[in-house]
Amino acid sequence: MEVEDPERAWGRLTKPGYWLSRPAGSARPPLEGNVSADFAIVGGGFTGLWSAIRLAEAVPGARIVVLEAREVGFGASGRNGGFAMTMVGRNIHDLVRKVGPAAARRVHLEMVAVLGEIERFCADESIDCQLSHPGILTVSNGPEQDLRIEQDLRAARLCGLDDFRDVSGEECGEMVRAHGVRRGHFEEHALLVDPAALARGLRDAAERRGVTVFEATPVTSLDAHPYRVQLATPRGRVDSRQVLVATNAYARVVPQLRRYLFTVCAYITLSAPLSPEQWARIGWARRMGIEDKRIMPHFHRPTADGRILWGGRDAPLLAGPPDPGRDADPRIFQRLEETFRRTFPQLSDVRLEYGWGGPVGGTVSCIPHAGWLARGRVLYALGYSGHGVGPSALMAKVARDLLLGRETPFTKLPLVTRRLTPLPPPPLQAKVLELSQRVLQRSDDQGGARGPLAGLALRLLQ
Ligand SMILES: Cc1cc2nc3c(=O)[nH]c(=O)nc-3n(C[C@H](O)[C@H](O)[C@H](O)COP(=O)(O)OP(=O)(O)OC[C@H]3O[C@@H](n4cnc5c(N)ncnc54)[C@H](O)[C@@H]3O)c2cc1C
Repeated sequence: MEVEDPERAWGRLTKPGYWLSRPAGSARPPLEGNVSADFAIVGGGFTGLWSAIRLAEAVPGARIVVLEAREVGFGASGRNGGFAMTMVGRNIHDLVRKVGPAAARRVHLEMVAVLGEIERFCADESIDCQLSHPGILTVSNGPEQDLRIEQDLRAARLCGLDDFRDVSGEECGEMVRAHGVRRGHFEEHALLVDPAALARGLRDAAERRGVTVFEATPVTSLDAHPYRVQLATPRGRVDSRQVLVATNAYARVVPQLRRYLFTVCAYITLSAPLSPEQWARIGWARRMGIEDKRIMPHFHRPTADGRILWGGRDAPLLAGPPDPGRDADPRIFQRLEETFRRTFPQLSDVRLEYGWGGPVGGTVSCIPHAGWLARGRVLYALGYSGHGVGPSALMAKVARDLLLGRETPFTKLPLVTRRLTPLPPPPLQAKVLELSQRVLQRSDDQGGARGPLAGLALRLLQ
């Protein structure tokens, strides 16, 4: 492989990403002046927008505002790989281990339902987000990863789920001619979307239900009084009965959440469009999403315009809020390109054109969480640990029911009932996160989590 100077090779770095750089229609104006609301939602990503939609449907006529610092989808929602999966947390094996088979089964079945709802919602609302329903193939590239495939299949059986299909190495090869794949499992429910188009479509759908969306409106302070919460923004104030903080990784600015939330920097590269002849070289007729079984996995998918999206692997963990300076990392793009070349040697003539990154909100358990602040006036819903495209739509139902004071099956899910595990206090926090990331990455690169440090780092993620 020709090695160029990474800065030059990645001259077409996009910030904050390919999806968001495409035409967006007209921006929504910022908040000017003071307004009253029943529900104020901070953050216009998937969590905030789905929650606004579900609240508006549950309480017609409610005054609901969404306050977004930049533009809807500016955070992880507009920059991700666009895999909407049933996965809550790291994988089904991990979920079973943490919440038990009965609760894991409930979460999984809710996620299957939610993915169906997303598909129907996009069709009914004419949201043109290039949604496809090709499923996801999870593959193993080594003995350690074979074991993780087996663990998932075993966990699914334990939960009585029959939607994880064991796929032999030979069948994997028929589905896609990718070098190094040994075996896998296939799950048919997964969708692929253009995430920025989905976020913009959700904004429009929320507005059709009476929600007001303000863009370029950062919330600079939140003051909770006994019956109201005041939210300050640069050119106006919102006085709201209840508030949902849906800012995911950015919620680290809330002091009470700093012990529980860390930022994961996730990265993606994107190829030039492939010709039909180049596609024929690798098969991939079904055009499904693919993820491998590293601890910090690779994920790949075709896009509707014929490119290959290639993301994942090295993911720095930060004990701080998202840092826009880390939205691009040429060294990580270079390493992603190396694995792309290794996996598809048949595509040596395909250039990777784009690279970008975004902030993911991580929790120690990797399970997202909804909880209260300010004596029940302010709800937060966050921490998908890199798997929020599908689960944010489930979280919206959880947030709706908590905000409306309803006890429902959604409010009894582990997303609510499982307590957040605290991180060590600073300055140890940053050191532990940095060390964990280094050890896990090395383990991945060596083909397995070896040695006492790797065991310790893995335990940190329990
Ligand atoms: C590179 C990358 C790839 C990923 N790939 C996948 C994938 O393929 N599948 C998957 O399931 N998940 C993936 N994820 C994770 C997924 O994108 C997130 O879990 C999900 O989008 C979280 O949505 P959210 O609405 O909670 O947060 P966000 O989308 O981050 O939204 C938070 C919003 O809050 C706004 N905000 C912040 N502070 C303020 C403030 N003070 N006032 C007002 N607004 C504020 C931000 O501007 C932002 O728009 C990926 C993430 C990244 C970064």
